[in-house]
Amino acid sequence: MKAIAVFPGKPNSVHLADLPKPSVSDVPDGRGVLVKVLRVGVDGTDKEINAAEYGAAPEGYDFLVIGHESFGQVEAVGPNVTELRPGDYVVATVRRPGFSVYDSIGTYDMTTDDTYYERGINLRHGYLAEYHVDDPEYIVKIPQGLKEVGVLLEPTTVVEKGIAQAYEIQRRLKVWRPRRAAVMGAGTIGLLATLALRLRGLEVTTFGLTRKPYRNSDLIEAVGARYESTADVPIMDGARKYGPFDLIFEATGYSPVVFESLRALGKNGVLVLSSVTGGDRKVEVPADKINLEFVLGNKVMVGTVNANREYFETGVRDLAQAEAEYPGWLSRLLTHSVSGLENYRELFNQLTEAKGAIKVFCKVAAEATDEPHQSREYAMATN
Ligand code: BGC
Ligand code: ZN
Repeated sequence: MKAIAVFPGKPNSVHLADLPKPSVSDVPDGRGVLVKVLRVGVDGTDKEINAAEYGAAPEGYDFLVIGHESFGQVEAVGPNVTELRPGDYVVATVRRPGFSVYDSIGTYDMTTDDTYYERGINLRHGYLAEYHVDDPEYIVKIPQGLKEVGVLLEPTTVVEKGIAQAYEIQRRLKVWRPRRAAVMGAGTIGLLATLALRLRGLEVTTFGLTRKPYRNSDLIEAVGARYESTADVPIMDGARKYGPFDLIFEATGYSPVVFESLRALGKNGVLVLSSVTGGDRKVEVPADKINLEFVLGNKVMVGTVNANREYFETGVRDLAQAEAEYPGWLSRLLTHSVSGLENYRELFNQLTEAKGAIKVFCKVAAEATDEPHQSREYAMATN
């Protein structure tokens, strides 16, 4: 089968690879789920992997199949799979467990191992291929009504985990009633964070670089949040006007914003950091002031990466609530698509160059045209 791969360590090495089609029997104990890939989203991580700044090939390979934002349809299941059926729409999680105590209880997103395994990113092949196979533990069912936007689930899980961490931490306060939130950044993650916080009833101010109006600011206002461009309203002014912020979600990818966010945070507030900043940027900061305000204000800052199955499940519920409350909003994030794995160059051109892109994705295949919910027996008999 075809797949899009890179040679990790070799810049701009994206190419079409050929691999054997996986089979349900690749997973032990009859627990295999074979998924036909329909759509795969790409993001900054893929950009960094193709720039050879990140990523590693699985053992025994010199290439890595990329793609970690998956969406597909179950084609066949092993005899001991009861959770899923052929025809089901699904999204796969990204990280696979390592060896720390956190990995052993299903919270592989919290691993303390130095080496982590992430499909499409680090040491495991990803989903930009015709098929993939895995254990049902790592495959989450998507309701039929969300099939058009299912490819947004993986980025949503990053937001879900970050917000869940914030609420979990704030249980220290016994009565935490967050009212005002800020989101730093109006890219895909910033938009999804704005949505998730609005769905939880918070007043949200989202800061971006670009002056409104543009698609992203329209989307932010469409969910009842406020958009401010830092070209006109610096973060600290915004905090004085619209704060104090009980929760700030940082998703700009630009680390200096972290230090401004620290100062924009209200008393007892929590700042969630989600930007993966691979560079080596340095800034001068008002260290005494930041420290003093943090101490006197009992503030918290937390980093968040990846997401385990639990956040994929809450993500599905948020996507469903979003479709109910703001119908069509999620689809407006799907700005650019390329059909066919063989058009990988075009996919990367869009990812790196398309103006106004929010989510760029590959239409790997059309969904199965036969009966959407054929029986398990039928699928097994045809194997
Ligand atoms: C992915 C996460 C992953 C992180 C670090 C992100 O792009 O969405 O699942 O943990 O990169 O590799
Ligand atoms: Zn990602």
